[in-house]
Amino acid sequence: MSLGDMDPEEFRRAAHRVADQVADYLADLERYRVLPDLRPGEIRAQLPPSAPLSGEPMDAILDDYARLIEPNITHWQHPGFLAYFASVASGPGILGEWLAAGLNSNVMLWRNAPASTELEETVVGWLRELLGLPATFDGMFTDTASISSLLSIVAARHAVPGLEATERGLTGARLRLYGSTEMHSSIDKGAIVAGVGRAGIRRIPVDDRYRMRADLLAEAIAEDRRDGWIPFCAVATLGTTSSTSVDPAAAIAEVCIREGIWLHVDAAYGGAAALLPEMRPLFSGWERADSIVINPHKWLWTPFDASLLLFRRPQVYREAFSLVPEYLRTADVGAVHNYNEYGVQLGRRFRALKVWFLLRWFGAEGMAERLREHLRLARAFAARVEADPAWELMAPVPLATVCLRYRNAPEERLDAVNEGILDRVNASGRIFLSHTRLRDRFTLRVSVGNPRTTDRHLDQCWELLQQAAEGI
Ligand code: PLP
Repeated sequence: MSLGDMDPEEFRRAAHRVADQVADYLADLERYRVLPDLRPGEIRAQLPPSAPLSGEPMDAILDDYARLIEPNITHWQHPGFLAYFASVASGPGILGEWLAAGLNSNVMLWRNAPASTELEETVVGWLRELLGLPATFDGMFTDTASISSLLSIVAARHAVPGLEATERGLTGARLRLYGSTEMHSSIDKGAIVAGVGRAGIRRIPVDDRYRMRADLLAEAIAEDRRDGWIPFCAVATLGTTSSTSVDPAAAIAEVCIREGIWLHVDAAYGGAAALLPEMRPLFSGWERADSIVINPHKWLWTPFDASLLLFRRPQVYREAFSLVPEYLRTADVGAVHNYNEYGVQLGRRFRALKVWFLLRWFGAEGMAERLREHLRLARAFAARVEADPAWELMAPVPLATVCLRYRNAPEERLDAVNEGILDRVNASGRIFLSHTRLRDRFTLRVSVGNPRTTDRHLDQCWELLQQAAEGI
């Protein structure tokens, strides 16, 4: 028995088969139902309860992959996947991800990842520039927006004068974090982990377009100060998860600067649209934030995972997170990033490679044209909804997500009717939609963000919605 890794020639042969498998998968995604027809436990029942004692041939493993796994996932790459927000892996991104796996470069210190670190510095700078943000922003990649926001909440906590939370813990301080009623649950999780607790979160009401009321934020901060709270962080969401509303960043930034509190911008989904100069007015003021998160793994076609965290004061993150035990000490300080010092993780994936691949392959213009197409598709879909009296738009469409609801039924039955419509559309296997609640009403969401999605798929979606409504 050889005690080494897989033989290089066996690896080469299997790698070619894997390349074919993925190319075939991407070439004809629509042969699959976007949502597989499965009951919980059905796949597990077909897998052995224990790991094999002796090794198996790679062909057998790949056969099982093709038979059991590939057909039985929910296909995020499918052009009919219009649920949640798109999270699509583009060809160039996948190739970068493969090569990163081959290198297995662990981007914790410059010393053990020089090219990977400097590529990350470069790609972060490219993205920042494409988004129209000033060079005063530094940044890095993390796995998810949840973690980017958590790190920023901890940095904001560190920045509270006199608190010394990094050294002393919270010792009973009543920290207050603000966000709109539409803010994503990841911020709540960040507040929980950072010791702020759910009681420390104050939700600010929104206007009739689901945007945070900056005037009410200012009032809430004043009231909290009177009551002994320490206001320390506000979160503006540019592209909320339910309706994609865009909080007024400029007005919120005014309040934060006046009050001396950290402004974190959650543009996990919406931020991608800032690649388009014509969309920049929507983001006006975000350049005054202390930190911004944008997810390339959402609307920028990067294989999961890659979240871009930009910050104006990198030293605050370093003060909050940098611990350099002897075994990590190197002489390379100053000119380059030792990225582990800016967050929780020591070991970090080489995410910049896939982002570099796709930025180069699409080019800034290619990305912009695709984003414009998604905005066009969503607006055209919204226009159909508006033109049909049996349906209503539930929110404005500032980005590429449409919130709608069937309304041709008695008010008290509308939630159940729309839930039924959703189930029928999803049972078709051709389109997958998700839902939310807006003003406590069951709302369907159609979110466009996959470069494979075309007019044909939105036609199909509209037809399925109509048929489902007729059949209820
Ligand atoms: N913030 C917003 C506005 C989101 O819509 C989402 C997910 O959809 C997140 C944060 C969480 O993203 P992640 O899965 O990268 O943590």
